[in-house]
Amino acid sequence: MDMERRFLGRGISAGEAGYYMAAALEQAQFAARNDEVPVGALWTNLRGGVVACRNGIRSSHDPTAHAELLCVREASQLLGNERIGGILFTTLEPCPMCMGALLLARVDVVIFAASDPKSGACQSVLSLCSHPSLNHRIDIIQGVCEKESAELLRTFFQKKRRERKYLE
Ligand SMILES: [Zn+2]
Repeated sequence: MDMERRFLGRGISAGEAGYYMAAALEQAQFAARNDEVPVGALWTNLRGGVVACRNGIRSSHDPTAHAELLCVREASQLLGNERIGGILFTTLEPCPMCMGALLLARVDVVIFAASDPKSGACQSVLSLCSHPSLNHRIDIIQGVCEKESAELLRTFFQKKRRERKYLE
């Protein structure tokens, strides 16, 4: 099935998805400039509610300050409701903690850019979105702006390795 038709079933076009993911990538670039692993996320309910966050683990000394989790928290506050529904865009496949939060928040769709072979919980390491015994399921779409996100992560870690080499 082509990309456009897949998206239309979820109330969003491929063009709109690219637009929202570009905003999530901008968040990831902000994170990199703050010496954080470049991951950004954006949540929208397509009815005017929009929240965008970036990874802030190091700057907030908080191992749970992942972009997706911060989006869930902010969106819940924005709506005054712990069930936020909607679509979560993220530049990297969510980890198990974030998938747990997205399930609890009853998010309908997760759209991610790059896969995470080390801790991805949509499909790469675990598949938490469609476990048969869970009473909520999340639709997953992968690969929107995949190259851009992977490149951003690669550049960041290359720079880190160079810096480490220089210090040794
Ligand atoms: Zn996470």
